[in-house]
Amino acid sequence: MTRKFVYEALPMRVRFGAGSLSTLPEELDQIGLRRVLVLCSPEQEATGRQVAEALGDRSVGVLAEAVMHVPNEVAQRASDEAARVGADGCVAVGGGSAIGLGKAIALKHGLPIVAVPTTYAGSEMTPVWGLTTDGRKETGRDPRVLPRSVVYDPQLTATLPVPMSVTSGINAIAHAVEALYAPDATPIISLMAEEGVRALATALPAIVADGSDREARSNALYGSWLCGACLGATTMSLHHKLCHALGGTLNLPHAQTHTVVLPHALAFNQPAVPDAVAALSRALGGVEDPADRLWEIAGELGAPRTLAELGMKEEDIPRIAEEATSRSYGNPRPIAYDDVTGILYAAWGGQRPSANPVWAGQKQNSPAGA
Ligand code: NAD
Repeated sequence: MTRKFVYEALPMRVRFGAGSLSTLPEELDQIGLRRVLVLCSPEQEATGRQVAEALGDRSVGVLAEAVMHVPNEVAQRASDEAARVGADGCVAVGGGSAIGLGKAIALKHGLPIVAVPTTYAGSEMTPVWGLTTDGRKETGRDPRVLPRSVVYDPQLTATLPVPMSVTSGINAIAHAVEALYAPDATPIISLMAEEGVRALATALPAIVADGSDREARSNALYGSWLCGACLGATTMSLHHKLCHALGGTLNLPHAQTHTVVLPHALAFNQPAVPDAVAALSRALGGVEDPADRLWEIAGELGAPRTLAELGMKEEDIPRIAEEATSRSYGNPRPIAYDDVTGILYAAWGGQRPSANPVWAGQKQNSPAGA
């Protein structure tokens, strides 16, 4: 094989380990932050307040308003609050929603973020921001929103409910899967992707058996760090576009949607990406068909396997397919509108993943009238 690639490392400091939350003041000192606003979701307000208390007079307040997909009005309120209290940075404690809110403030005021992730979503490792206005989510890349420092403390994930741990972990696996066949894939990111999938595929069954298993929690967060780094370093394809369309249009829950769609999007792409299939096969213990194995794993771990159970209706398929094909994007296998409706139908009904899924309804619904 002849290699050709461009690799650019993202400037990022990572501190990992059980109990590492106690080093947060050192991390702030390292960056020179003296007045941080702590951000979290309403459900994690107690954790946010605990963090603020531990920061003493380095904290100038707690804003517990983070919600999924960063609505513009929440971002605006948070930016105003950061300015009002004279914050010189933000500490985002929580999942992608809290970190996303920190990114919205960074985008507006350039305030540095220190992230303390408590899910496996991986936003902390990316320069990607998202903002939702009138139900439409806009995303972009900006180096200012990349957290300056990330503190991974597996102890904080012990409270993440087991079903959410499973779907969040599979959400992380999805980043690694698409990084393996990304147009800008590189050897170092592919190594991280394979190791990330291996770590999560091993940790998640142990977490289902015992949500307080410390080693499993540590391995899962380690895997999510690697998978998040893959997301930050490469361009995502079909799977992420479908999830984006489903989340943005129907407001389906983020991690669960990724969990349901991943086996189907991967099954479609597998014929075009033999190297990625080989890496995923190794990571999943030598299986022949990684997409099929991921579908089985979701079932074994009690995760949702149908978009129907997440609230999607069959008649939503054309709308989502149109949204997902409205803008062009790279995908290793060429994809047409009818391929997308086939994938969505298989995911909607929970079929076994297939490389060539077909939606019986597509003839009468296809915009091309095919
Ligand atoms: P989330 O941040 O919305 O968290 C889900 C729920 O779990 C929240 O109620 C939260 O308070 C709770 N929670 C989180 N950690 C917990 C813990 N340890 N214990 C108890 N409860 C806990 O969900 P998410 O899946 O982490 O993030 C999804 C959002 O992040 C979406 O909006 C998605 O688009 C975005 N995202 C962005 C990027 C990016 O690179 N920009 C990457 C991944 C996800």
